[in-house]
Amino acid sequence: MSILNADLHCHSFVSDGTVSPEQLAARAAANGVELWALTDHDEIGGQRRAAQAAQANGIKYLTGTEISVTFAGQTVHIVGLGFDADDPEMLQGLMDTRGGRGARAMEMSDGLAKVGIRDAYQGALRYVGNPELISRTHFARHLVESGVCKDTNEVFRRFLTEGKPGFVAHRWASLKDAVQWITAAHGVAVIAHPARYKFTANEEFALFSEFKAHGGQGVEVVTGSHTAAEYVKYGETAREFGLAASRGSDFHSPDESHTDLGQLPYLSGGLRPVWDLLADRIR
Ligand code: AMP
Ligand code: MN
Ligand code: MN
Ligand code: MN
Repeated sequence: MSILNADLHCHSFVSDGTVSPEQLAARAAANGVELWALTDHDEIGGQRRAAQAAQANGIKYLTGTEISVTFAGQTVHIVGLGFDADDPEMLQGLMDTRGGRGARAMEMSDGLAKVGIRDAYQGALRYVGNPELISRTHFARHLVESGVCKDTNEVFRRFLTEGKPGFVAHRWASLKDAVQWITAAHGVAVIAHPARYKFTANEEFALFSEFKAHGGQGVEVVTGSHTAAEYVKYGETAREFGLAASRGSDFHSPDESHTDLGQLPYLSGGLRPVWDLLADRIR
């Protein structure tokens, strides 16, 4: 069924969102979301709370996460949906993926110090909800609040992207491992916001082909990170690769996110919704 207000991508303060799983569930319900997944980066510590809050708010729930992967020298995000949140290999894989974040954050801080921004690590830590999950987003919030930049977009542009002083190249999980953790835990792997990557056509083709070969089954088509033209483009890509389509806001914060929970166009009728593959995993 395409006409379903499903929001299968968002973040709580268990990763780099600013609100709790309970606040997200209430907001999703108020916005008319019928099927929801909390997809914190590299972390499933919020899943139990999210599932309970979904039930309390009368909305359906799928387990979720968004895994950081390195592919062809870039960071790609793979969303996992409907997996068993107690699966030991999944838990271990996510823990390993989170593992490098502390040292990376200190290196980022050293880079920022070289351009006169001191103690950024300590500053960013004040915004962290989960000590294992310090991310660039927390540095961005700190640099906005301390008056260095006017918004987080400016922070990323001037300081936190490749070639900029606070950027630290990092090796995340492999595509193969991320897809296999998800599928071995009986979930469905989904390529997140494909239009956000800066791949050549050949690299993008390789991403989709290898993802599919490893057992990946879905791609985000309607997301807060895509334009209307990109909904069409990646709808075609989904059909071309025989992938199911997903829909999600990528909501992080009431103050920062331009797309609110559930406030997106429906998937087009010609696409197979990813939730059709997960009917028996919906709670
Ligand atoms: P990390 O996992 O530490 O590399 O941080 C990645 C996160 O930074 C993403 O999940 C987004 O939430 C955020 N992000 C990336 N690029 C931007 C941007 N241009 N503006 C605002 N937030 C961004
Ligand atoms: Mn994020
Ligand atoms: Mn992402
Ligand atoms: Mn996300």
